[in-house]
Amino acid sequence: MILRALTALSAPAGERSRLSVFYFHRALARPDPLLPSEPDAATFDRMLGWIGSQFRVLDPLDACERLFAGTLPSRPALVTFDDGYRDNFTVALPILQQHRMQAAFFVSTAFLDGSMMFNDRVIEAVRGCTAQSLPLPGPDGEVRRSVPVRDLAERRVAIDLILAAIKHLPPAQRDERVLELERAAGATPARGLMMDPGQVAALHRTGMRVGGHTRTHPILLALDDAAAEREIGGGLDDLAAMTGERPLLFAYPNGKPGSDFDARHVSMVERAGCHYAFTTQPGAASRASRRYELPRFTPWDRQRTKFGLRAWRNLAVDR
Ligand SMILES: [Zn+2]
Repeated sequence: MILRALTALSAPAGERSRLSVFYFHRALARPDPLLPSEPDAATFDRMLGWIGSQFRVLDPLDACERLFAGTLPSRPALVTFDDGYRDNFTVALPILQQHRMQAAFFVSTAFLDGSMMFNDRVIEAVRGCTAQSLPLPGPDGEVRRSVPVRDLAERRVAIDLILAAIKHLPPAQRDERVLELERAAGATPARGLMMDPGQVAALHRTGMRVGGHTRTHPILLALDDAAAEREIGGGLDDLAAMTGERPLLFAYPNGKPGSDFDARHVSMVERAGCHYAFTTQPGAASRASRRYELPRFTPWDRQRTKFGLRAWRNLAVDR
């Protein structure tokens, strides 16, 4: 296969190797028209097949160690999941096991009690909405307009508009807007979207790596240092209590250096005892990369050759 040969040339074994890190959020049990960019089980299975034929998928922690020791095999890659969705356990895990692949799961621990992240609360409110329109906050968080939600197309647009409007509000104000929205939608919020602590422990027991992703998934840059430290360390403590092992891997929420986190948070993750951390900057990692800012990238294509070519081109982006 030509893609595999090209990938082997760009990511040779040893000191000149380049590590590709794929990242996912969900593997849906069935396609969801409100989440068009999330793969369903069949799509995820196909994507893992493409990744496995082009790359060698390795254990995430071992691969990071081998990257810096200069002992990686050619075409190395990792598979990672962010946030801690329940379908990671019920849908993605068995598919990974069929492919005999290891993966890392970065879990935000505050939502393992049946609660949801704000973005999912918005999506579920719109999904279950019985009203014709919903309140749309302006950039200052104040509601002056409404957005129609009469059919699927309008609902998709409404989700994007509402999320864009509230994403950067201070968490307390954002949660107020979400509560208002839920009341206006008249919907009963969906429960059980995230794993429970027993599933996180079971995931760990299968040999998958469980990594830190803070407690409440905040934009770390929006917090003061003490709060950021509590989010990072607290999330790791929670996971250690669940699995019996303190995670050595971490992924920054949202993950863009400079806008979501900065050098202070990098030191906090190191001080909290992690060995490696991941961003959402595209590119491939080399021996010269920073251990606490390893890049990740997943092609969005749903066609094999396009997916593979984009994954190969990503190897040329240095981080
Ligand atoms: Zn996340």
